[in-house]
Amino acid sequence: KKITIAIDGFSSTGKSTLAKQLANNLGYVYVDTGAMYRAVTFFAMQKGYINADFFDKESLINSLPYLILQFKFNADLGFAEMYLNDVNVETEIRTIEVSRFVSKVAEVSEVRAKLVEQQQEMGKNKGIVMDGRDIGTVVFPNAELKIFMTASATTRAQRRYDELIQKGDNVTFEEVLKNVEERDHIDTHREDSPLEVAQDAIEIDNSHLNREEQFALVLELVND
Ligand code: C5P
Repeated sequence: KKITIAIDGFSSTGKSTLAKQLANNLGYVYVDTGAMYRAVTFFAMQKGYINADFFDKESLINSLPYLILQFKFNADLGFAEMYLNDVNVETEIRTIEVSRFVSKVAEVSEVRAKLVEQQQEMGKNKGIVMDGRDIGTVVFPNAELKIFMTASATTRAQRRYDELIQKGDNVTFEEVLKNVEERDHIDTHREDSPLEVAQDAIEIDNSHLNREEQFALVLELVND
């Protein structure tokens, strides 16, 4: 019987790696909700609504009805890519610049309301793995399996740093660590749907687990 799997946790805990493994293995649909917040952020940056010094929330809120977010499956890659108003933005949304502003954009209630509604629509049918910050608490409070992932900030920053360097991004480890800590702070302190552990979530600290060990652990939970 197919179920709904909610994976939440701090930044760069490997949520998407685990979620993709599960979806592929179980034949489920995978939805990366962080990509949606990132796409809205990229849009706000392009329009000049947000930069290091200011944030024109009003204009962003007014544009929300015209913002179309879609996932389109790329068979070569084996996962779905993010499209913003029919343009593939999968690469653009993964930069450190977008990471710098995304938690500010994710604080806006109107943004959250729009994305949560779309996520609930995408998850209407069982057989879905969704990862984010509020999946087990807000989007699918009735999910059959909820995982909450943690790892030390340095472990997480190191992983994200390795990823960015591999892609050719010009960042320092300190910048990445600072970004991870800042996002955690904003995500856990925002008024609307702060990042918190759902009552019935199972916590996994993967500081000392490799991908295979973690996957085996979670697969057991799915089959329970
Ligand atoms: O998962 P990822 O690190 O790509 O998410 C980027 C940011 O989007 C998070 O730091 C958080 O501020 C926001 N987010 C959120 N709720 C979600 C998913 C992401 O607020 N469900």
